[in-house]
Amino acid sequence: MTLQLHDTQTHETKPFEPVTPGHAGLYFCGPTVYSEPHLGHARGPIVFDVLRNWLEHLGYTVRLVSNITDVGHLTDDAEDGEDKLAKRAALERLEPMEIAEKYFWSYFDAMARLNVRRPSIVPRATGHIPEQIEWVQALIDAGMAYERSGSVYFDVSEFEDYGALSGRDPDQLLEGTRVEVRGEKDDPRDFALWKRAEPEHIMRWRSPWGEGFPGWHLECSVMSTKYLGDRFDIHGGGLDLVFPHHECELAQAHAVGKPFANTWLHWNMMTLDGEKMSKSKGHFVTLTDLFERYGPAVVRFHLLRSHYRSVSDFGEAAIESSKQGLTRLLDGWADAQAKANDAEPDTEVTAAHVAAFDAAMNDDLNTPQAIAALFDATRDLHRLGASLTPAQAAAFAAFYGSRLGGVLGVEALGHDAQDQASQERFDALADMVLAQREAARARRDFASADAIRDRLTELGLVIEDTPEGPRIRRQLGATTGTD
Ligand SMILES: [Zn+2]
Repeated sequence: MTLQLHDTQTHETKPFEPVTPGHAGLYFCGPTVYSEPHLGHARGPIVFDVLRNWLEHLGYTVRLVSNITDVGHLTDDAEDGEDKLAKRAALERLEPMEIAEKYFWSYFDAMARLNVRRPSIVPRATGHIPEQIEWVQALIDAGMAYERSGSVYFDVSEFEDYGALSGRDPDQLLEGTRVEVRGEKDDPRDFALWKRAEPEHIMRWRSPWGEGFPGWHLECSVMSTKYLGDRFDIHGGGLDLVFPHHECELAQAHAVGKPFANTWLHWNMMTLDGEKMSKSKGHFVTLTDLFERYGPAVVRFHLLRSHYRSVSDFGEAAIESSKQGLTRLLDGWADAQAKANDAEPDTEVTAAHVAAFDAAMNDDLNTPQAIAALFDATRDLHRLGASLTPAQAAAFAAFYGSRLGGVLGVEALGHDAQDQASQERFDALADMVLAQREAARARRDFASADAIRDRLTELGLVIEDTPEGPRIRRQLGATTGTD
């Protein structure tokens, strides 16, 4: 069975047929880097990380491109208002590029904690200004765009297929378009490809139409095709990007004769206790907050318990149940590993579960079904109990390792658990060393007691007297080589 994916444009679930055999070219719209990463930033990267893992598991060489918007995204999300980065820069009294840098790294730090691998290429809008100017010129040359006082607009009336992706008819396409303040567009549906920079605008570049900056929709058409080719496999984004952002991307590409994405994949939104997240309602959870409360692996696992096309709710009770579920799976994994004793896996015992997991993943990345296969395997593992052979244990360990750890990427909690385990081991060893030292002192063997203390000092550790007795702690500023 081959991988089937749901395509937003055709509303069909269709087999994945790569443009280049053996290769997969993926693009998804990354964040505008002007604030701390929040829950809404996590879903897309995790979905695409799992898609990438699964394609690699199936044997494809994957190139994943995801952009960073660092110019052109205006506060009203489309045509007007201030640049989001410039606004934030004024608030924080920083250069816009300092804002971009700061939130670029906080985004990728958060992604790393979620065990999301870095994309193959992370193009930035400001790094592709000449390419964007060229594209605007090509649209003008093709008669698909026009210039008005230093701004350039896409001429929707010249493009028959406008609305093809979102399925909107011309009247609906007017919804959400603002009353044109400058009144310079021929049609309110037309959208900006290039905007002239008003005198107070900081981020500006020279162009054939005067100083200005690119429109937000343009960068993704330009950067996806630059790195993946004029036709590529999968383009993704949040459902809220279908219109106007992706509709505009598609129009810009088709209007210059580029076939663009074969499949459009959109993930659904997230809610908090059933309510849509929004900054204004105070429903805005930063990833740092969530990591502190639940740990990043629980956040990742919880997101994967919903199908990417369903709403995922982050209610307290739901996350708690994910946490317990994940603990059950990880305990099963640890149990199987402990009993495997390096035996050759007896794969017969897990064959049905592996098949169920793989079928679920091939069915439009049905991660909740895939996770159900892991729970079924865990029940089987417990049912076997004492009769479990090392060979069977090895098969279970391999199943958890390749699918839960490898494909779903939920080994990060493994890291958290390992941190916990290594701290426990350290504490146990420390107790043992202290007992040796106390024993030496009790028999008045001060040379041995001092030797223990000196060796600890060399390792960057100090003995501290506390009301509960002596304990060993790491000396501040010292590294032991094991930190
Ligand atoms: Zn985009």
